[in-house]
Amino acid sequence: MTYPDTQLFIDGLWRPASGGATLPVLNPATGAEIGRVACASRADLDVALVAAQRGFAVWRDMLPVARGKIMRQAAALLRERAADIAQVLTQEQGKPLAEAKAETLAAADSIEWFADEGLRVYGRVIPSRRDQAIRQTVVRDPLGPVAAFTPWNFPINQLVLKLGPALAAGCSVIAKAAEETPAAPAALVAAFADAGLPPGVLGLVYGNPGEISSYLIAHPVVRKLTFTGSTAVGKQLAALAGAHMKRVTMELGGHAPVIVCEDADLDLAVQSAGFAKFRNAGQVCISPTRFLVHESVVQPFSEALARHAAGVKVGNGLDAGTEMGPLANPRRLAAMAELVDDALQQGAQLLAGGKRMGESGNFWAPTVLAQVPQSAKVFNEEPFGPIAAIRSFRDLDDAITEANRLPFGLAGYGFTTSLKHADLLSRKVEVGMMWLNMPASTSPELPFGGLKDSGYGAEGGPEALEAYLNVRSVVVRNQ
Ligand code: NAD
Repeated sequence: MTYPDTQLFIDGLWRPASGGATLPVLNPATGAEIGRVACASRADLDVALVAAQRGFAVWRDMLPVARGKIMRQAAALLRERAADIAQVLTQEQGKPLAEAKAETLAAADSIEWFADEGLRVYGRVIPSRRDQAIRQTVVRDPLGPVAAFTPWNFPINQLVLKLGPALAAGCSVIAKAAEETPAAPAALVAAFADAGLPPGVLGLVYGNPGEISSYLIAHPVVRKLTFTGSTAVGKQLAALAGAHMKRVTMELGGHAPVIVCEDADLDLAVQSAGFAKFRNAGQVCISPTRFLVHESVVQPFSEALARHAAGVKVGNGLDAGTEMGPLANPRRLAAMAELVDDALQQGAQLLAGGKRMGESGNFWAPTVLAQVPQSAKVFNEEPFGPIAAIRSFRDLDDAITEANRLPFGLAGYGFTTSLKHADLLSRKVEVGMMWLNMPASTSPELPFGGLKDSGYGAEGGPEALEAYLNVRSVVVRNQ
């Protein structure tokens, strides 16, 4: 299976780092080095910044319909190349091939939707209070070059959530994708380049995340920061952006509550939450995590979820039939071991998994913990892995209080056949995205984003474009 080395994409050209530095890329299913990724030097970033400034001037002044045409062509190329891109994505990230292909195809859908939405960036005309000869208008313009930082869990999709609205709005972008998973984002960028995106409109760099982010965010050419990753890093970067008065979108961690009421359809709850929990090995910011189950149904629910977990086929994402791949890096294995050990020490019951699988690769067995004390780390820190932690509740109000206890507010799930309970959950659970009686289902039309420490700004829907636009008042008095 071939896997490409990844170069930097600067000013319309693929090139090695000026200092020649590279980092290894490992296959998480085997631990083997499969390629190298170029690490940008300060000099490379300076070239990328000049190019982004020039690219912005060109892209901003193109007709939205012409920008949309290039974006649609990029989406078409992604669809054509989806099978090959999926092979690359699975090798570097670990997820099953079918999920990798679905991610690539969903990216194409998203790019197309934003291409069209770019045609609908309208202004307003407002009557004057003083004089008919005064014409007051409100115009919305692209805000300038954007620095985008994306993680390794959805290497293509996380980048598309930023590129779609930024490019549709008329901004240029310098993206730094994750060094662990560089080739899939490069394939996405290649689709844009091959579709005719003018040089400088989109740059792609890799390297030392802290050095690159602090240099780009502070640089006067960059007008906006958009970041997806952990809350801890997001807070640091948002503070830096604040110091330099840069616009910010932050899509950060979550700790999604799943509230299963006494009147829930239990089969539906187990199937939906079980599927959502182990998708991408739980390395999903909206992954269901704190299972709060009514005491009258907690036992059958827990046993059924444990059976579901034990039945998930874990293996190399390239193998047919694999339902869950390895964790993306050895850090996640260590984090899973720590969370499980801590929960068991505090009195939780292990119903499924709870350990590493095999000696090579980063495989962790789908894990279900029951009777987890509220003080357990797994009930407080984002697990970002295949662990479901269950507690019971008696009153729905208590479950909602628990759901809102943590500083996170990204996603939430509820299962109930009662309209009253559904209404309560949809109004009272403090999250940016709530799904009732179903697993998460995202789409380009829907705002995607969190509340509280999960960040601010939406990465879907028309709101996503607003985040890349300036609003200006222009008032003209006819002579
Ligand atoms: P991490 O916080 O070190 O890194 C997360 C991502 O942020 C990586 O892509 C990394 O390259 C980037 N990053 C780290 N420091 C940065 C900096 N100073 N400037 C710019 N980018 C920086 O954690 P990790 O070990 O890679 O992942 C574990 C945690 O990250 C998880 O527990 C989860 O909370 C979070 N995470 C969240 C998402 C998400 O979709 N919201 C995705 C991946 C990781």
